[in-house]
Amino acid sequence: MSDDFDLVIRGAKIIDGTGNPFFLREVGVKAGRIRGMGKNLKGKRCIDAEGLVLCPGFVDIHNHADHGIVAFPDAECYVMQGVTTSVVGNCGLSMAPVDPKRADLARHYLAPFLRKEGKYSWEWRTLEEFFHETTRSGIAQNLAPLVGQGTIRIAVKGFDEGAPTREEMDSMKRLLAQSLDEGAFGLTSGLIYPPGCFADAEELTELASVLKTHGGFYATHMRNEGDRLLQSVAETLALGEVNGIPVQISHHKAFGRANWGKVKESLALMEAARERGVEVNCDVYPYLAGMTTLTSLLPPSALEGGVEQMLVRLENPEDIRRIETEIQEGVPGWENWIQSLGWENIIISECEKKKEVEGLSLEEIAQRSGRTPCEALFGLLRETLGTATMLIFGVNEEDLRTVVKNPLSCIASDSWVIAPRGGGKPHPRAYGTFPRFLKTFVRDNRDLTWEEAIRKITSLPATKAGIPGRGLVKEGFWADLVLLDPQTIEDKATFSDPHRFPEGIRYVIVNGEPVVENGQPTERRPGQVLKRQSQF
Ligand SMILES: [Zn+2]
Repeated sequence: MSDDFDLVIRGAKIIDGTGNPFFLREVGVKAGRIRGMGKNLKGKRCIDAEGLVLCPGFVDIHNHADHGIVAFPDAECYVMQGVTTSVVGNCGLSMAPVDPKRADLARHYLAPFLRKEGKYSWEWRTLEEFFHETTRSGIAQNLAPLVGQGTIRIAVKGFDEGAPTREEMDSMKRLLAQSLDEGAFGLTSGLIYPPGCFADAEELTELASVLKTHGGFYATHMRNEGDRLLQSVAETLALGEVNGIPVQISHHKAFGRANWGKVKESLALMEAARERGVEVNCDVYPYLAGMTTLTSLLPPSALEGGVEQMLVRLENPEDIRRIETEIQEGVPGWENWIQSLGWENIIISECEKKKEVEGLSLEEIAQRSGRTPCEALFGLLRETLGTATMLIFGVNEEDLRTVVKNPLSCIASDSWVIAPRGGGKPHPRAYGTFPRFLKTFVRDNRDLTWEEAIRKITSLPATKAGIPGRGLVKEGFWADLVLLDPQTIEDKATFSDPHRFPEGIRYVIVNGEPVVENGQPTERRPGQVLKRQSQF
């Protein structure tokens, strides 16, 4: 009967995720799903939500929570900003599949992203085994896994630079097919990281052809987001067009002063490809800085063979001289951030082994130690065994606005789960992405309506990722819901003080259970690991 819901929410303006205008109705939740929308609903529990907006829980389509979920299953930094589903395994960096013979290489590949607080057995082989092991004690939010091309390539041929043999290609395709059959939502690549950067367009196109028969989408951290941005977009679109599969351009931006403004052309390329039948979208984080590993500053020749080989080279004067020359003079096709941004715009964010440099630019670190910036960088890489991460300031405000406003873009965090009130200077997007987007681009600047903005963080990413039954406030859908105060919603995390929860997110409900209540985490763990095509 409709009179005994587990939970009834009344008085809220409902923005349902479709982009349609808000409406006033009560919502009744039973057994984890929305089972009634109307008037005078009766429930065991009621939330009086007068003055608040009720919308679907946010779906973060570009997220790396899989690296830290074993350490922080409550994912406070995400649920407190309204994220109910994180799409994980991005940038080619999934935690599986792993070939036991090459588990050490996989561990080195993923080491900069893992949290020291977590216990990683590295005994899993498949995605299914990884998620089974790491979510045994429950998780607060839903996770939708993707499988990484880099991880697959390591399982088959380590950090070997060469093109795959026929046999190796078949093995990679088998691993991808198996991951998709286990429920992965698609394939991702990170083409600036080894071994992703060793794969040419032909190799990627053939691997991605598995998606044609097994379903799923292709998301890519492209080869180049700077000088060769447009060529990289064209490569991605061609892969989608040849295979007839949906593609997603991850954390879209034009990096480096010389490239500012190019997002107008890149978005035009995407729009034209849509006309030809390519289902392309992009995502974007609402900040002017990115964050990644410190090793990404090195030219590909320094990274060949993985982190261990890099460390060997950084002890050899001849190699050091060559790497320095490549940084100063550039290498065709390589995105040289040091040249395009300058040492002063590269800031160390997390450096477990040398805490005192956190928050300092490479220029400052060099000055303090009386070395050249190159010497300071190489020294840091050696001392930290390549595990430090950095913030890189290279995006232009007008470009960010252009991408955020485009109807093809979703908003995503591109972050990890962070220790609540933990150390280091992680990118504030871990805590603030979604409140910041709503505050800045809707309430303050009025670039988007509330309805359009909510669509970009709910039904658009859910539909793109192929997650059924989520992303809308609709009868029959899972009760993943957010109650927010449109007058006060605001991110509080900054680059200098990143460990701060946002304001204005009052309730967050995952599968019918509150994980945030009156603005506080409840420490409940109703989240699920979602599987493609099995959740509705
Ligand atoms: Zn990335």
